[in-house]
Parts: sequence; structure tokens; C-alpha cells
Amino acid sequence: MTDSTSRFFEKNRKERLDVVEKIAHLTKQERETLESLGGIGFEQADKMVENAIGTFSFPLGIATNFLINKKEYLIPMVIEEPSVIAAASKAAKIARVHGGFTVRNDESYSIGQIQVVNVDVESATKKILGSTKEILSLANSKSNTLSKMGKGAKEVTCKKLGTPVGPMLIVELLIDVGDAMGANVTNTMCEGVAPLVEKITGGKAILKILSNYSTRRMVYGSAVFDKDEVGGEKTVDNIILAYQFAANDEYRAVTHNKGVMNGIIAAANATGQDTRAIEAAAHAYAARTGKYTSLTEWSKDENGNLVGKIALPMSVGIVGGIINVHPTAKVCTKILGIESASELACVLAATGLAQNFSAIRALASEGIQKGHMRLHARNLAAAAGAGPDQIDRIVEQMAKEGNISINRAKELLGQ
Ligand code: NAD
Repeated sequence: MTDSTSRFFEKNRKERLDVVEKIAHLTKQERETLESLGGIGFEQADKMVENAIGTFSFPLGIATNFLINKKEYLIPMVIEEPSVIAAASKAAKIARVHGGFTVRNDESYSIGQIQVVNVDVESATKKILGSTKEILSLANSKSNTLSKMGKGAKEVTCKKLGTPVGPMLIVELLIDVGDAMGANVTNTMCEGVAPLVEKITGGKAILKILSNYSTRRMVYGSAVFDKDEVGGEKTVDNIILAYQFAANDEYRAVTHNKGVMNGIIAAANATGQDTRAIEAAAHAYAARTGKYTSLTEWSKDENGNLVGKIALPMSVGIVGGIINVHPTAKVCTKILGIESASELACVLAATGLAQNFSAIRALASEGIQKGHMRLHARNLAAAAGAGPDQIDRIVEQMAKEGNISINRAKELLGQ
């Protein structure tokens, strides 16, 4: 944390942009991209999706105070929900007291699946495993870039699926996708080797597609939150009770994990990630034992400080997809100062843990509505039709009365 980022929330937009520009060494053009509100025009939107009629903006904010693996980060977050960016920044500030977040990850292997039917699965498996070298070589011929980098398809595995319509062989390609999310290259390789798989097995290849359950791209994070900063021993104990609730009840766990995803998805949006892929994998992982549970774990260390841990699959990239196309995503990636997809995965995991900490801390102490509704009051005042010069007074009044609602905002505006 530098002096320039402290009390970031009290600065006006220009001052915030000045700080970000300086720290991230933004060019004039990159700053202009941030000032342009949105980053893409219709022409670009029309190239990205079908039947485009316009674009749709969300707020972009900066979470401060993050120290991850001893490196300072400003984390751009794109999210419509109030209090998320403030909560992440606050949690990161507390985590700094004991050195910030420590995060590590696995190799970046995507998993491509080829579904083979009309085969004797056992003998087909033996044949496939015996032809591993040939399959990998064909797969790698589909990406010169990955091959040149020493990455690409690395392993072939097989599994048998028993289904009501008969047994199937699922051939899986494990592909080191480097700094890409890797969906397209994985699909290309799967389609590329499918005819060979058919030839080897004598079966019929039906689906050839990436699995978004990216368990070979796991990320593991932790942080220690000082008991005094958290609010004392009682609050630490209550947070652990709150965690146990989530760990043992799926109705609570879904909301608990939604809080985790508030952090992860906001930062993933800002950097142009495929957020659906991240979400789908995270929730599948949360249900890996057959019972949906918390993506984080909370306990106490020997000094009574709160220890948070997070583990989840994280399929992200810093090349490919829209990352190098969307100008704001490009600038946000630069603001983060990341050098690899695995570093981005670490940042996202830390953001998720931070967010979860703030949510359960609020829930286990004063409750979430006090802080959240105060921030939400601004939206309500705006929705009631208040102008920029009226919003603060209406919010102030509603907070004083403890009556934060659209109806009260309308009444106050009328007055
Ligand atoms: P991409 O198709 O743009 O390919 C990335 C390419 O970048 C690689 O194939 C490689 O040739 C090249 N490259 C250059 N430098 C690299 C480096 N250092 N490391 C790795 N590759 C490098 O992008 P992608 O990552 O293959 O696919 C991501 C996109 O695919 C996302 O937009 C996603 O939404 C979409 N998608 C997702 C799914 C899914 O999740 N099921 C399916 C299809 C498409």
C-alpha cells in the first residue's frame, strides 16, 4: 500500500485515475480508455456477438491494500453491487497485518474430452494408452504456438462411463495451455485427434470438447486476519461458527460461496475472463464430495488469530479470448501488473477469500445490512430520481432515520 492509495475512497474520480495512472504506468491512451466509460463502441460489440444493438456498462472500481505473495496489487473490479469493492479493500487491509495473502497454484492443464461409443471400453482403453505418443503428437501439431513454447498436450487418460444407454469410453487430453484460458485450443486439439481415436478404437467419437471442470488448474490461498483487527476473540469465534454453518448446510453454503464469487467474478470481469467457466467449475468443486459445501475454510491459529483458506479450480488467461481485444480489459490487466495466467489465478483467489472474510465478519458481528444498505441507499436515492446534488442529503437522512427504502427516498425528494 502506498500513501497515494490510502483513503482512495475519499478521492474524486480524477484523483483516483491519477493514482492508478502513476502506479500502473498507464499511457495517455490507456488513461483515455478508462475515461471513455466502457471501452468498446458499437463496431467492436457487433464483431463480438450476434444481433448486437448496443453496449451495456457496469461500474469499474479499484480494490486497494492487496498484498499477495508479498507483491502489491491494485485490483480492478467490475460489479454493479455496492459494498463489494469496499469490503475487499477492507479485508485486504486487515490481511496485511500478518503479511497479506499467500497463494499458489497447480500447473495450467486444461482437460479436453472425447466421448467414444460402440467400443469394448477395456480393450479400447489399452489401445489408446498404447498410442499415447501418437495422439499427443497429432494434438500438438494443431498449435505451433504452444508447441514452440514447450507447452501443449501432455497426457492422455481414459475413463469408463456406465450409462443407461451403454458403456462409453471418455478419452481425456491434458493440455498445458500456458497463459491462455485455452478453450479454443483444447477444442481444436480434441477435434483434431478424434479421427485417430476412432481409428485406434474402432468406435465412434461423438463429443470433442473442453471440460470446464478445470481440476488441473487448482489455486490455493490463505491469509491470517489479526484477532484485534477482526473485532476481538468473540468475533473470531462467531466467524468460525458462521463458516461451520456454511460447511454443513448447502443453503448457507450457496450464499457463502456467492460472496466468494462477488470478489472473483468482479475482478475476472475487469480482466475479460470467461466468468461462466470460473463459476461452473467453482460450484462443481464445492460439490465434489457429493454434498455442496463452502469454498473457504476458517479456523484459529495458536494466537487466536483468524485463518482463512480457499481452494478452487481457476481457468483464466492473459492472452486470447477478449483479453487482447477489449481495451478496458487490457488496461485493467495492466493495472493489475500480472505477468502470467497463474498469477492472475492467484489474485482472483485472494480477492475471493478477502470478500468472503468481509461478508462473514459483517454477518457474524453487526449484520450485513447496516453497511450494505447505507451503500445501497445511493442506488435507491438515484432510482427515486435524486440528482447528484441531492443524493448525499437523502442518503444521510434515510440513514439517520434507519429507514432506507425507495418509498422514503421518494418522499424525501418530494420534500
Ligand atoms: P484463443 O482462442 O484466443 O487462443 C489463445 C491462443 O493464444 C493459443 O491457442 C495460442 O496459440 C496463443 N498464445 C500466444 N501466447 C500464448 C501464451 N503465452 N500462452 C498460451 N497461448 C498463447 O483463446 P482461448 O484461451 O483458447 O479460448 C478462450 C475463449 O474461448 C474465451 O473467450 C471463452 O469464452 C471461449 N470459449 C469457451 C468455451 C468453454 O468454456 N467451454 C468454449 C469455447 C470457447
